[in-house]
Amino acid sequence: VKVKVAACAICHSDIHSFRGEHGKPPLPAIGGHEVAGYIEEVGADACYVKKGDPVVVSIVKRGCGECYFCSVGLSNMCQNRPLRAEGATGEGLSAPGRYTNKKGQRLTQLGGTVAGFAEYITVSEYNVIKIPADVPMDRACLLGCGVISGYGAVVNRAKVPPHSSVVVMGAGGVGLNAIQGARLNGAYPIIAVDVLDNKLEAARKFGATHTVNTKKDANPVKTVWELTSGRGADYVIIAVAGLDILRQGFNMSGFSGTTVVVGHGANENLAAFAPVEFVAGRTLTGSAMGASRLTLDIPRLITYYKAGRLKLDELISNRYPLEKINEAIESSLQGEALRNVIVF
Ligand SMILES: [Zn+2]
Ligand SMILES: [Zn+2]
Repeated sequence: VKVKVAACAICHSDIHSFRGEHGKPPLPAIGGHEVAGYIEEVGADACYVKKGDPVVVSIVKRGCGECYFCSVGLSNMCQNRPLRAEGATGEGLSAPGRYTNKKGQRLTQLGGTVAGFAEYITVSEYNVIKIPADVPMDRACLLGCGVISGYGAVVNRAKVPPHSSVVVMGAGGVGLNAIQGARLNGAYPIIAVDVLDNKLEAARKFGATHTVNTKKDANPVKTVWELTSGRGADYVIIAVAGLDILRQGFNMSGFSGTTVVVGHGANENLAAFAPVEFVAGRTLTGSAMGASRLTLDIPRLITYYKAGRLKLDELISNRYPLEKINEAIESSLQGEALRNVIVF
């Protein structure tokens, strides 16, 4: 399907990609993968959407509904879906596709399937999910990656039960949504950990009950153990890249605690962990885009938003036209913004 892009947010994964921290894609390339827009054209085999439908576009798969993974509720792992838009050549997720620039160079889609810093994109209909017409597009696009990655890590992957303690490392676009997920699931305490006071302040607004600034606290791990009655955290969500941060977060988890890795950078490996640390029954696990089931999670999140239980308006720091994208990325790099959105 061809989508007329209405809004595309800047995710930190875009920045990791630009810097080659998620592998080295062939250049030139188009980034952007948190997209909302309107269906412009529909291919012969598409039957889920029609022209004019408002949609969220995501690199998460909506799923075919028929394969093994779809059958067991893991539609994000769906096997029946092309890895990239038709016409892409070469191997790997970030192979150059059919798009060319004015110089005739083939363009890589950084997200593999979605290249949203553009007026129009062509994607598989498995990558779009219909939304109600009354959801503002600049907010809807956030649902495509940052919101589901954070919320889903807590709600779908960790399945955090009420009254359990949750630590969220990194109070950025993903971390704030992990905090919202923890709040919606009834966790307590919800401890946000970051190095920037402005982000910790935002974390409180999103539902954190306690905050720890690792730049100011001499022993953040000890602080978390104290805040959790000496038991350590039941769940730790790592929403920022960096092995030291992962190490620190893991040490905050208690006996039988679970650490979910969401943020990741380049060349990180787990050599810093010793098997004996897992003897206490600790779990270290990943989260594939929040283990999201788009057909269930997106409508649910929109309902929460309309009911005032999910903050989306507050996630947006600034809106920019496409011509000012470098300014927007620079602002995201400085860590001063929660989410910057390119609006068309
Ligand atoms: Zn993203
Ligand atoms: Zn499937």
